[in-house]
Amino acid sequence: AERGVYNFAAGPATLPLSVLQKAQAELVDYRGSGMSIMEMSHRGKEFDAAIKKAEADLRALLAVSDTYEVLFLLGGATTQFAAVPLNLCASPSDPADFLVSGSWSDKAFKEAKKFSAASVAWSGKEEGKYTSLPPFDAIKQNPEASFLHICSNETIHGVEFKGYPEPKNKSGILAADMSSNFYSKPVDVSRFGVIYAGAQKNVGPSGVTIAIVRKDLIGNAQPITPVMLDFKTHADNASLYNTPPCFAIYICGLVFENLLAQGGLAEVERKNAHKAGILYDTIDASGGYYICPVETSVRSLMNVPFTLANGGDFEKQFIAEAAKEGVGVKVTPTGSR
Ligand code: PMP
Repeated sequence: AERGVYNFAAGPATLPLSVLQKAQAELVDYRGSGMSIMEMSHRGKEFDAAIKKAEADLRALLAVSDTYEVLFLLGGATTQFAAVPLNLCASPSDPADFLVSGSWSDKAFKEAKKFSAASVAWSGKEEGKYTSLPPFDAIKQNPEASFLHICSNETIHGVEFKGYPEPKNKSGILAADMSSNFYSKPVDVSRFGVIYAGAQKNVGPSGVTIAIVRKDLIGNAQPITPVMLDFKTHADNASLYNTPPCFAIYICGLVFENLLAQGGLAEVERKNAHKAGILYDTIDASGGYYICPVETSVRSLMNVPFTLANGGDFEKQFIAEAAKEGVGVKVTPTGSR
């Protein structure tokens, strides 16, 4: 470990050391300006350059076409659980489909019920306790739905989509919470109407939430939509309607530069597969000593949940001994990460 500890936390998560060092070197005097970027106007030329560069690199990494708007938002991915139905449903009585594959998509569904007639198109809860995904033709899609929502990687349950279902609703919109596998691999953005993610897992510190929204879906928010939750507010103002989380956006920009320098997302995916493979191979070769409950075909490259066969006391001992070795094992009470 570069810094004496292996941080396995899902988020806030490890940032590249070179990013932290660059931020440190620029912290007090940002690029000769005599000020920290934290102290500057978000409308000044330095921050303007920083947010534009961050967006350009973000677009380059995922090949985001200009039919999509990139929005830097506040409020975490949790706020998008409300913003998505508020922006995509014309009224709270409009149906929306949710594929519930773990605790995060369940939270998204429950929030969306306040602003849409959301229903569960498939749930992995009863059968297998969120360890699988359905064959896509088993998803009971409502043709009248305004969108189909998925969580592309369930952070707690470790279930990751390897392909994406075709939305069979009248609008053809697929919306995805990509918080925990955003920028971990190439994704065909054109399959989605809306992608959103809190930054703090893969692309920066907490405080900024990134949304990639197809332009034609912007501007139809429900009349009750708070101004801060309306995609149009932020699209019309290049994410500068109010004071954005400037420092967080700047750090994301440094991470995007780093990802490009690593060779882009195909290379990043290769590294992630290698790292996750070390863990899954160890679990699978342990003869049942370590147990990963997730179906092999949907195992996450980002979050590798496992238990110990002997349960409680063994797990406590494992965690204590891992800590001594500099391994930050995150013990996750269900529902919080
Ligand atoms: N969705 C997923 C998949 C997550 O992992 C998290 C955070 N752990 C959230 C949503 C909530 O994100 P935030 O804390 O940015 O609101």
